[in-house]
Amino acid sequence: MDRSHAEWIAQAAELKIESRAFIDGAYVDAADGRCFDCIDPARGVKLARVSWSAPSDVDAAVAAARRAFDAGVWSGLSPRARGGILKRFAALIRDNADELALLETLDMGKPIADSLSVDIPGAAYCVEWFAEAIDKTGGELAPVDPKLVGLVSREPIGVVAAVVPWNFPLLMASWKFGPALAAGNAVIVKPSEKSPLTAIRVAGLAHEAGIPAGIFQVLPGAGDVGQQLALHPDVDCLAFTGSTAVGKRIAACAAESNLKRVWLELGGKSPNIVLADCPDIEAAARGAAAAIFFNMGEMCTAGSRVLVQESIRAPFIAALLAAARHWLPGDPLDPDSTMGAIVDTLQFDKVLAHIDQGRRSGAKLLCGGQPVRRESGGLFIEPTIFDCPTPDLALCREEIFGPVLSLITFSDVEQAIAIANDSDYGLAAAVWTADLSTAHRVSRRLRAGTVWVNCYDEGGDMNLPFGGFKQSGNGRDKSLHALDKYTELKTTLIKL
Ligand code: NAP
Ligand code: MG
Repeated sequence: MDRSHAEWIAQAAELKIESRAFIDGAYVDAADGRCFDCIDPARGVKLARVSWSAPSDVDAAVAAARRAFDAGVWSGLSPRARGGILKRFAALIRDNADELALLETLDMGKPIADSLSVDIPGAAYCVEWFAEAIDKTGGELAPVDPKLVGLVSREPIGVVAAVVPWNFPLLMASWKFGPALAAGNAVIVKPSEKSPLTAIRVAGLAHEAGIPAGIFQVLPGAGDVGQQLALHPDVDCLAFTGSTAVGKRIAACAAESNLKRVWLELGGKSPNIVLADCPDIEAAARGAAAAIFFNMGEMCTAGSRVLVQESIRAPFIAALLAAARHWLPGDPLDPDSTMGAIVDTLQFDKVLAHIDQGRRSGAKLLCGGQPVRRESGGLFIEPTIFDCPTPDLALCREEIFGPVLSLITFSDVEQAIAIANDSDYGLAAAVWTADLSTAHRVSRRLRAGTVWVNCYDEGGDMNLPFGGFKQSGNGRDKSLHALDKYTELKTTLIKL
C-alpha cells in the first residue's frame, strides 16, 4: 500500500510501541525496572522508554532457553514441522510489514521506502528461506571400512545468543535467528540500544506463530547485556554483527569463559575500483554514490573508498558529483527520501569529527561536509566526498560508517589491487571493467568476502554467503553455509 508522507506521519502518531523484554514466552519489565530512552533521530523526540535487561533477566532468559532446548520442544520437532512454524512466523512478519517498517524508520532514521522494500521483506524472506531449506539438508554416510557404518550428522548447538547492530536492525537479527531457529536452537537476541523496537515486536509474532516459550527471546539493553551473554557459561554460541573492536572483546570473553562458538560479522573499508575501460562512466559513478550513500553510509559493505584510474578521473568526478545530488537527506517518513538521519548524536558527532579531521589532513572536500535540516531537530549530514592525495590518510583507512566517500586516484591495475588490499578489513570490494579477463583476474586477487563486478551491493538472494576476510570477521551469514554456525557435526560409528 502506497502511503503519502502525511499518512506515515499520522500513522506514526497512532503507533503503540511494545518496549519490554520477551523472556520465556512473555513480555516482561526489567527485573529492576530500569529503562533507557529510545529516540527518533530524525526529530530528536523520545519514542519509548525501553526495558534495560538486568543481569538476573539475562540469567532467566538463558535458563529458559536451556530448559526449552533440553526438553526438545523445538529441536525434537521434525524439520518439516519446525519449518512450518517458521513459515508462519515469516508470514506474520509480512502481514505486519507496515508497522515494522515504521518502527525501523522511526527508531534508526532510515528512509521508509528502504524499510519497506529492503529491511522487513528481507527479514521475512530469510526466515522463510531457512524454513524451506531445513528439511532438504541432511547428513552424510561416510565411505568407511565395510565393518562399520559411519554417520555424519548435524545437531543444533543449543543456546545461541545473537548480538546485533543498529544499521539494519531486524534484517541483521534475522540473518542470525533465521538459520539458528531452523537448525533447532534456542535463540536470544540482544538488539542494539539504538534500535531495539523491531526485534522486540517480532518476539510477539514468533510466539503467535507457535515458536515455544524459551526458544525465541529478546533482551533489550546496552553493551553490558551483550557482554554478559558473551561471558555466560550456559550460552553455547554467540553470533555477532557489529564493530571489529567489540568483536575482539567478544572473542576474548568466549576464551575466558566456556569457549562458546563465536561468529563475527564486523566492519569494512571496502574498495570500489573503477578502471578506465569501465563500460559506462556514469553508471559506475551512480553505483559508487549508491555504494556509500545508501542507508546514510551506515553499511558494513559501504564502498567507502572509490579508486579511480587517472585517465578517466575528470569525467568520473563530474559524474560522481552529479550522482551525489540524488542522495540529499530528507525526512525518513517521506516516501521520496533517499537518505535519512544518522542513528544518534554519538554517531553524528563521530562522522562530523571524521569530516573535520579529513579537512585538516590535506584531502580536498569535493562536496558536502555539513549537517543539514537542523530545523527538524534531527541528525542529517550531506553526502560528502573527499579527493585524497594519498591512500595513507585516516580517511582512507578508518571505517567512518557515515555518508563520507574517499576518492583515490591510481595509474595502473596493479597499483589499484595493492591499494585495495592494503586494509585490515576484507568484507567487500568491486571492480568496474568491460574486459572479462580483467574482471576475473582482479576479482580473484581482491581479498574480500564479496566481490562485485560492474555493480555494487547487488545480490539479495539468500543462497549467497555473506561475510568477511581478515578483520571483517569469520563464518558466513546467509546460504546453507550459515547453518555451519549453528550446528555441531557428529560422527557416529556403528560396528556391524
Ligand atoms: P557495535 O558498537 O560493535 O555494537 C554491536 C552490538 O554489540 C550492539 O548490540 C551493542 O550494544 C553490542 N555491544 C556493545 N558493546 C558490547 C560488549 N562489550 N560486549 C558485547 N556486546 C556489546 O556496532 P554498531 O555500532 O552497533 O554497528 C556498526 C558496526 O557494525 C560497524 O563496524 C559495521 O561495519 C558493523 N556491521 C557489520 C556487518 C557485517 O555483516 N559484517 C553488518 C552490519 C554492521 P549497544 O549498541 O546497545 O551498545
Ligand atoms: Mg533509536
